[in-house]
Amino acid sequence: MFDLPPNYKVVREGKENGENWIFRIKTCLDREITAVAVTQPTVSRTGPTWSYVFENNGLNTVDVGSPGSFDSLKDGYKAAGITLTDIQTCFVSHGHADHDGTIPEFISESKSDLYAHESYGFLKSFKSWDIQDFTSTVLQREFTKIVETKVDKKDLNQKIDSSAEYYKKKQEINVTVGLKHRDVFGDIEVYSTPGHSPDQICLAIDDVVFTGDHVLPEITPHPTTKMNLKKSFINRISKEAVELEALYGLKVYLESLGYILHSNEGRTLLPAHRLYNRSTLNIIDTERARAIIDHHSLRLARLLRNVISNSSSLEDLTKGLFSKGELSGANMVAALSEVVAHLEFLEDVGDIVVTEDGIISVPPSAKPNYKSVIDHILKGSNGVIR
Ligand SMILES: [Zn+2]
Ligand SMILES: [Zn+2]
Repeated sequence: MFDLPPNYKVVREGKENGENWIFRIKTCLDREITAVAVTQPTVSRTGPTWSYVFENNGLNTVDVGSPGSFDSLKDGYKAAGITLTDIQTCFVSHGHADHDGTIPEFISESKSDLYAHESYGFLKSFKSWDIQDFTSTVLQREFTKIVETKVDKKDLNQKIDSSAEYYKKKQEINVTVGLKHRDVFGDIEVYSTPGHSPDQICLAIDDVVFTGDHVLPEITPHPTTKMNLKKSFINRISKEAVELEALYGLKVYLESLGYILHSNEGRTLLPAHRLYNRSTLNIIDTERARAIIDHHSLRLARLLRNVISNSSSLEDLTKGLFSKGELSGANMVAALSEVVAHLEFLEDVGDIVVTEDGIISVPPSAKPNYKSVIDHILKGSNGVIR
């Protein structure tokens, strides 16, 4: 048995990968938080989604799991003695399917209010690839070209088909309150921490922070690439949508990690995945945010080294960073977009140039600038007050 801190209690034991486990965690103010592992119905590298329930002017929930996992959620709540209709407020950490996938059933059964980032209600009606102008930069154009020519259509279509029902149902979700940075609800403080997802929020209460997918143990959350909205879309939507562009990309993600690192010292982070895995309880604090920033700093260094030794293309650089397995089928899309996110960052700080035909090289007399940007984030001196 793993070491259980004195403020943790096991309510139900489960599998090695975290499925079925339920913990009860006490905060410094003796508030009880029930952590329920919700099984994902399809095989997932991230493991179950953790749903957290606690008292804060009535019962609150953070995240409810993937489409098709409502029975697993209900079973976990029942085992923990939680009645669904007692939940008054449901928070969604961000609009990814493994977090808001059971919202339609959850809200209709619990009749709870739904709280999510102010952009969630707007974004839920669109798939990111429907609103993004992939022709606006060379990197994004190359990205699309490689996906279209190198990734098996069957793998792609399967992904798109399997999510069609989820997107359809999502359109009908009603958000009760759209959240802004530093909003306060009872004892909860909301942080807007975009980057992994534009609508990602973290929620601080007592000495813990619910981090959704913003900060995870063991795995580094996937950063978004920059967003250039289609002109036709901007014309249709107005101001609100244009502000959306500022919520995407690796730099935004790293700044949001810096925010958690510097504003939450001494707090325990409660992630939406991997709270328990490989028969171990993962207890993380703000240092995990620093470790994720360090990971990206190393990735940037490696990419830049590869470009310095050889002017290269997006495809070659991606192949140089990932194994064959990591690039098989639809995995290729995730790997490519991660490299695009890093290259966009290097391009923005002037460490690389990308020619019209997609050749990536180092400008003459360049000195790496990315390091000082990251140092500022690590020191908390980058002046981002989100
Ligand atoms: Zn996510
Ligand atoms: Zn997730």
